[in-house]
Amino acid sequence: MAVEKRTLTFAVASFLVHLTLAFTPLHGTVPLGGHLTSPSGALLCPLAGEDFSYKRASGKGPYDWAKISPCCGGKRQSPRDIWGITQCVSQSTWLRYNSTRRVTGHVFNNGKHPEIHFKSPATAYLSGAPSTAGQYVLSNIHIHFKSPLAKGSEHALSGKLFDAEAHLVHYKAEYRSVREAVLHQDGLVVIAIFLEKVKASDFREGNVEIIRLINSLGTLKGIGEEHQIPHQVSLDRLLPTSQDYYTYEGSLTTPPCSESVRWIVFRNPVYIHSLQLKTLSRLESDDGGLMSDTSNYRPLQTGNTEVQRNFGCGVSDVVAG
Ligand SMILES: [Zn+2]
Repeated sequence: MAVEKRTLTFAVASFLVHLTLAFTPLHGTVPLGGHLTSPSGALLCPLAGEDFSYKRASGKGPYDWAKISPCCGGKRQSPRDIWGITQCVSQSTWLRYNSTRRVTGHVFNNGKHPEIHFKSPATAYLSGAPSTAGQYVLSNIHIHFKSPLAKGSEHALSGKLFDAEAHLVHYKAEYRSVREAVLHQDGLVVIAIFLEKVKASDFREGNVEIIRLINSLGTLKGIGEEHQIPHQVSLDRLLPTSQDYYTYEGSLTTPPCSESVRWIVFRNPVYIHSLQLKTLSRLESDDGGLMSDTSNYRPLQTGNTEVQRNFGCGVSDVVAG
């Protein structure tokens, strides 16, 4: 009887351990190639250093990513073509960073995108993101584009693509890293800013801080190259002055395509000089050749989550939630 009781106790304990392993959202407990599912149905996949490509015919290009990570075949995938939006966010607060200090950082060619990381202060918090709670830490800024003569944004507005798209990636502070945050539905907030080139004669300064950062990317070329940004950056000037945006729950636009992203897509583009886009086209890609040869954007997806807007909202338009 005692033996049976011990056996039963062990069996219950073992069951609880396995239950915990199955549902504790830590990346170490999610098998590679596996995923978690959030209560509302979002697919959450761990970062595993996926070997993917933007080359369509490589066997590991965008149309084959679901073979690399199951999340890439999910129903909440990004990027999206945003059109016909009738719903308004219930509360629209001003997006801002906690720091008015100037910060230092570096630019880096990771072989897929040009990236910007900030070193000091180590934590810049974003506040005001819709439908979120808690603080979100700025992790990196990177840019998607194609050749100087083609549209390379990821998102589209009513079918219109833009020349390029900057992503400002933030992870929820309590998860401590992007790696942990991708395993939570509320793990990431990504701000998308469209970049549109204009001729020199039409150029007028828009978002000066973004333009200066893109200029600093011009020092990069080879894969793995990293340079100090030659000026200090004002984070509070990073966001466009017009804060009209669309927002929805979607995914990372690269494998593992985890559905852990609250997207904020700014409605109005920032205008950049056509020469700046040419500078980006010189970057070398780990797909071979230059990034502008293969592009570095994911084709549009058909995510099924609701898109909301924060502008043109009368009291009668506002919905709860
Ligand atoms: Zn991106």
